Amino acid sequence: MITTAQTQTLLASIILVAGVSTLVWLGLALIARIAPRASLAMACANAAAALSLTLHALRGVLPDALTQWPADVLSVASFALLGAAVSGITTRQLVWKPGAIVVAGAALLLFALPDDAGRHWQTRIVNGAGAGLSLAAGTSAWLALGRRGNGRRTPAPLTLPLFLIALLMAVRCVESFNTPGPLPGIRVPTAFNLAFLWAALVLTLLQNATLAFLVLMRLILRIERLLERDSLTDTLNRRAFDQALAHAHAWLARGRGYALVMIDMDRFKQLNDSLGHAAGDAALRQMAKELQPCVREVDRFGRLGGEEFCVLLPDTDIAGAALVAERMRHLVDRTPLRWLEQDWPLSASFGIAEAKRGDASADAVLARADAALYRAKSQGRNVVQA
Ligand code: GH3
Ligand code: MG
Ligand code: MG
Repeated sequence: MITTAQTQTLLASIILVAGVSTLVWLGLALIARIAPRASLAMACANAAAALSLTLHALRGVLPDALTQWPADVLSVASFALLGAAVSGITTRQLVWKPGAIVVAGAALLLFALPDDAGRHWQTRIVNGAGAGLSLAAGTSAWLALGRRGNGRRTPAPLTLPLFLIALLMAVRCVESFNTPGPLPGIRVPTAFNLAFLWAALVLTLLQNATLAFLVLMRLILRIERLLERDSLTDTLNRRAFDQALAHAHAWLARGRGYALVMIDMDRFKQLNDSLGHAAGDAALRQMAKELQPCVREVDRFGRLGGEEFCVLLPDTDIAGAALVAERMRHLVDRTPLRWLEQDWPLSASFGIAEAKRGDASADAVLARADAALYRAKSQGRNVVQA
């Protein structure tokens, strides 16, 4: 026996969850300032859903002018805002225009609809639009998460709640075609309403939790990146490079070798003294950016300090390292620094070394590459030495 008390309690629970979620997302957006625009969109999505359901619940108590059209439009708006928030969190670009167009279209349609006591078409428009918006948001989020290349991947199945929401709305839309006579309002104790409300409650919780998780993941990835990157050149900093090197050296004992390419800019002090420190910084940035495409995804490119860089090449012998170093040397030599309308020639010297079984630690390999670099300098610079 299903009672009105059951449907009303469920409805109140969904409103409560959406209301609390609104506050949490508002806190994230305004106080913690974590993904502020997406978090604000999430707060608005939850607020719109809570308000829409509250107006729904007050049908018959408040005038129809308040509880029908505004509640329906708010409901569609909450799905559009959810889609915008999801796009903001997964792609860093808040896509809101398509959602706004759907809301405007639905609002006009609902307004133009002749009075229908059964509310069939209202239900179809609201739930149809909700299903479409959720499906679009889920699909684009799935593609965006699958695409994210570097670093740890965020699992695409995190978008599953959006597809379930789309399914739930679609079911309610289809149900309206199967119901003869006036549609029972959401508070009416039918088996369908009870199942629908339970699903809506679980999905509201799940959707908020997964998006909060995605925001957290994004924050962790950003912190990880800040910890391991050099702020001037965006290459690995010394600590991260040393870690990668120690890791590669641990693999050496198990038969996986590596090689190092050590890079030192030529006559860099002269550049600083003539054009200023800012020009020197620009040259370092330019060189790092230019050399980045020369390294494979498995290689690690780090700044050891000052104008010295090092590339770690796993599974590479001295011949392979020589090839990479020569390509890099040519690139640096070919591209001068453009500074205040004048060109300043750049070049770098390279020392390469291959790890050997007998090397007690990575420092021994680094020392060999450093010695080779020293020879390159004494040979007149702009050369590769092994
Ligand atoms: P060599 O060809 O023998 O390598 O000559 P060099 O002038 O490059 O030699 P050295 O290694 O002695 O000088 C490095 C200079 O790089 C010293 C310092 O002024 C400059 N430098 C180090 N770090 C930075 C930096 O972050 N920014 C800028 N602009 N200059 C830096
Ligand atoms: Mg130096
Ligand atoms: Mg130098």
